[in-house]
Amino acid sequence: MGELVHAEPMNRHTSWRVGGNADRCYRPSGIEDLSEFLRSLPKEEPVEVVGLGSNLLVRDGGIRGTVILMHKVLDRLCEEDGLIHAQAGVACAKVARFSAQREWRGAEFLAGIPGTIGGALAMNAGCYGGETWNIVEKVEAMGRDGVVKVRYPEEYRIGYRSVVKPAQEWFVSAWFRLVPGKGGMDEIRSMLKKRIASQPLSFPNAGSVFRNPEGNYAARLIESCGLKGKKMGGAMVSEKHANFIVNTGTARASDIESLIEFVQEKVLKETGIRLEREVRIIGEAA
Ligand SMILES: Cc1cc2nc3c(=O)[nH]c(=O)nc-3n(C[C@H](O)[C@H](O)[C@H](O)COP(=O)(O)OP(=O)(O)OC[C@H]3O[C@@H](n4cnc5c(N)ncnc54)[C@H](O)[C@@H]3O)c2cc1C
Repeated sequence: MGELVHAEPMNRHTSWRVGGNADRCYRPSGIEDLSEFLRSLPKEEPVEVVGLGSNLLVRDGGIRGTVILMHKVLDRLCEEDGLIHAQAGVACAKVARFSAQREWRGAEFLAGIPGTIGGALAMNAGCYGGETWNIVEKVEAMGRDGVVKVRYPEEYRIGYRSVVKPAQEWFVSAWFRLVPGKGGMDEIRSMLKKRIASQPLSFPNAGSVFRNPEGNYAARLIESCGLKGKKMGGAMVSEKHANFIVNTGTARASDIESLIEFVQEKVLKETGIRLEREVRIIGEAA
């Protein structure tokens, strides 16, 4: 049996450390248990799936309905018929290290993504030239009816930091096809060094707030508008990386959302380019 809690503060489950309560929060004990739980819910109950909340702004009024938490619960990771098989709650960094240690190359970039495999599949997360769906052989997805289907990349519309999938269907595991080779751990170490040097990791954040527009960089555009250090309440455009908004300690979700909108408007006015959000915003205003 999994664990159901009521009035769970979502600031415990988001990397920005903000957000109101979810009415109900469920941690399944496994795929079968998740399936049974989903089938037991009333049809009208809204469901949100959350991984490590590293790309998520939950508004201060919280979430009406049930949040399913996957991190550390759907956590099987193994090598199977020459593929790496990871359940959706496994941290991306763990998959990167597991694969490199077994002398598979191609998953090193996952070490730089502080989310789960489920979140990486939903976002087509990537960095340093690697993208999640480039290494996916197939996935298992579960519908609201609790039925698990095996699906292949060609069944999804996959783009830069975006994946169009059936609504009310979630990833529960993925198989990755990698290439044999040594040296993965060295690449992971050097990549992590670069990240530490360029990202404001000492303040809560959600990585890049905006997608890079074609042929340009969101950070460059934001910096060119003089917005580094711009504050609203406890939210601030990072001095170190202009595409990051950090929680300086006292931010509410509304501060972060207002700052996101302010940056979008200012960049549009000054450059004519409309920045599109990469971070997802859910829940109700307080
Ligand atoms: C410091 C920092 C650096 C970052 N750097 C990068 C980077 O280089 N590249 C990059 O791409 N991202 C980066 N990110 C953003 C983030 O880590 C990724 O988007 C990551 O894939 C989100 O995973 P998550 O488990 O935290 O998902 P969450 O934030 O929990 O959820 C994100 C979205 O995915 C959905 N989702 C989560 N799990 C599932 C599932 N099992 N099935 C279906 N939908 C699901 C959620 O409903 C939500 O809509 C960074 C974030 C931080 C904080």
